[in-house]
Amino acid sequence: MNLNQHPSEIQGVSLESIAREFGLPLYVYDGEKIVSQIRSIQEAFSDVPLKIKYATKALSNISILKLIRNAGAGIDAVSIEEVKLGIMAGFDPVEIMYTPSGVSFSEIEEAVKLGVMVNLDSIPLMKQFGKQYGNQVPACIRINPHILAGGNAKISVGHKHSKFGISIEQLPEIIATVAAYDLNIAGLHVHTGSDILDAEIFLRGANVLFEAAKNFPDLRFIDCGGGFKVAYKAGDPATDIREVGDKVSKAFQDFCKEYGRSLELWLEPGKFLVSEAGYFLVEANVVKETPTITFVGVDSGLNHLIRPMLYDAYHDVYNLSNPKGGNQSYHVVGYICETDTLAADRVLPEVRQGDILVIKNAGAYGFSMASNYNSRLRPAEVLVWNGKAHLIRKRESFEDLVKNQVQLEF
Ligand SMILES: *Cc1c(COP(=O)(O)O)cnc(C)c1O
Repeated sequence: MNLNQHPSEIQGVSLESIAREFGLPLYVYDGEKIVSQIRSIQEAFSDVPLKIKYATKALSNISILKLIRNAGAGIDAVSIEEVKLGIMAGFDPVEIMYTPSGVSFSEIEEAVKLGVMVNLDSIPLMKQFGKQYGNQVPACIRINPHILAGGNAKISVGHKHSKFGISIEQLPEIIATVAAYDLNIAGLHVHTGSDILDAEIFLRGANVLFEAAKNFPDLRFIDCGGGFKVAYKAGDPATDIREVGDKVSKAFQDFCKEYGRSLELWLEPGKFLVSEAGYFLVEANVVKETPTITFVGVDSGLNHLIRPMLYDAYHDVYNLSNPKGGNQSYHVVGYICETDTLAADRVLPEVRQGDILVIKNAGAYGFSMASNYNSRLRPAEVLVWNGKAHLIRKRESFEDLVKNQVQLEF
């Protein structure tokens, strides 16, 4: 077993000591890994004027956002609250892209007031935006390129029947709307889905924009979205970021020549930046043998990590406390009162009550999708940076759970 795959420490800090200090369950992030992922994209696209707009929704802790800003990236926000988190984290509003889906116009107005770039997601929104701002406020248009891509149906968002973006088949109407309202279009955008492996898919999305761009003379950038895949287990393929970089950069340079001007290329990686940096530490509460399966019940569940139940996502699990134990097969399950399988049919070194299990690839869409379901408290978050573990979110308390409830007396 490669030690790197099942680390007992991060930047020299042992996970056991982190668990002792901050308690369980616990999200732990490796800040160096996040920065190295940013660097790998920057290197792969070093031949073009690249801007990374980290997709905040993957992991939106303010300290993580500050780390990402410090590493030279901007952000993509999908709610006005994420815009505000970004501003709180110190991002210059001009480095924030706001990509909402069907929100009320008052949110759009708020975003414009805050000075962020708005990504227009429908023809009615283009019209309303044009009526209000004319050519005074630059905006971006989200195009639906009709490309079926992504790991599964729930995370494929750029196909013909998706709610996202404006269909490329409606390009004539888009152009007419821009003309009628004198819109100032600074960028075109696609985001086709998540867990996309194939460089050709990114190229196809980019080519749709390059072709459409000929109709928009005032562009400053082309935004090719996110969706790069990471590895979930040993031997699992990940997006070859250098191949994507080579192919898309080359096509982008050709496009800029044809367009007559050098534009910026924007990317919106979420999962790629933070997934592998995250480790979710849980404790084995009970080891229960049945005639067919041995269950390990842990002190967490789909309330803290919903990806396995929501997307059938695979998360590698290892036993931090007993790495030399004899191998056995387990179902690792949560405590939520419905089917709550975190990991099925896993061979792990013998799990004993009290052992710490580590769930990998927990940085993206882990804590950010956590809830209080079953009236459970959400875990704490820790960032390891400069060889030291820092608490970046306190564990919730019972007071947090009830503080907004208004009690009636009967
Ligand atoms: C979710 C999202 C992303 C990031 O997707 P990943 O699969 O995490 O890379 C990028 N852009 C937009 C508009 C998104 O909604």
